[in-house]
Amino acid sequence: MAGTTPQQSDVEGVDAGVGLTALLVAAARAIETHRHDSLAQDTYAEHFVRAAPACADWPVRVEQVPDGDDNPLWGRFARYFGLRTRVLDDFLLRSVAAGARQVVLLGAGLDTRAFRLDLPSDCVVFEIDRAGVLAFKQRVLTDRSAAPKVKRVPVPVDLRGDWSGTLTTLGFDAGAPSAWLAEGLLFYLPGPTETYLIDTVDRLTTAGSVLAFEAKLEEDLQAYRDSTTYTATREQIGIDLLHLFDSGPRPDSAGDLSARGWSTSMHTPFDFTRLHRRGPLPEPNDALEGNRWVFAHKPTP
Ligand code: SAM
Repeated sequence: MAGTTPQQSDVEGVDAGVGLTALLVAAARAIETHRHDSLAQDTYAEHFVRAAPACADWPVRVEQVPDGDDNPLWGRFARYFGLRTRVLDDFLLRSVAAGARQVVLLGAGLDTRAFRLDLPSDCVVFEIDRAGVLAFKQRVLTDRSAAPKVKRVPVPVDLRGDWSGTLTTLGFDAGAPSAWLAEGLLFYLPGPTETYLIDTVDRLTTAGSVLAFEAKLEEDLQAYRDSTTYTATREQIGIDLLHLFDSGPRPDSAGDLSARGWSTSMHTPFDFTRLHRRGPLPEPNDALEGNRWVFAHKPTP
């Protein structure tokens, strides 16, 4: 299996490295939750932010941001995460309506879909992330006496290793349809790890299963270093996303899935901004320019 790269820190929790990005998304979801025109509701999100010393001074409402929606980080970028949450919520709800009863969240971070979505009661949600991130999450949820609406199975593994055995040992059934999300994950992983992940999802899925993932198609990410998004994230909260993203060549995962017989469709986030009439639109030197949301379905042979 692919080894580690210098880009991904071995820090295990949410206090630093790639784990901190889980808190960034949680803060964005907290802000989205409190908007009058909210696209997605996550009442747990602000509690994660408040529980982590690393982000004690981050906002959880847009009113706490001096320049409000004009702030590139807590305005436009947060809205991006709100839109992404909504689009993938809808994808999952459609997938379970079509019959999937197993949901696998790859790089789950502080995702609370098992607690907040109206999933069928016989659904199981597997949350894969590193042990430190899942331990922090559990601590906050336990403190709030939060109860999942469906069976929830934390899967503490590093996706850079061979994780499929742990998932099946914890109850995942490769013979039954499943719905998978890789939301804000793949570009943190080395290319061979992504290829292995896609191969594993294909191997563990039966006809009728689905996968949605986020990709970044930019040839040269560093060309966007001075974009308002990356600059604000670096300067306001000290997260250098371009340093955390893997810098090696990216596989064509949508193409790989198509070659394996999956049907795929690829959208820009802006497609959904237009659909929902809320969210980010293209701007010059745009850090979101290469972002794509891919929806893949494994048909009956
Ligand atoms: N999917 C969540 C969401 O959208 O709220 C979290 C996204 S966060 C940007 C990225 C997540 O991927 C973090 O929780 C991080 O710990 C996880 N992650 C990154 N590399 C990982 C790895 N090698 N193994 C397991 N999880 C990983």
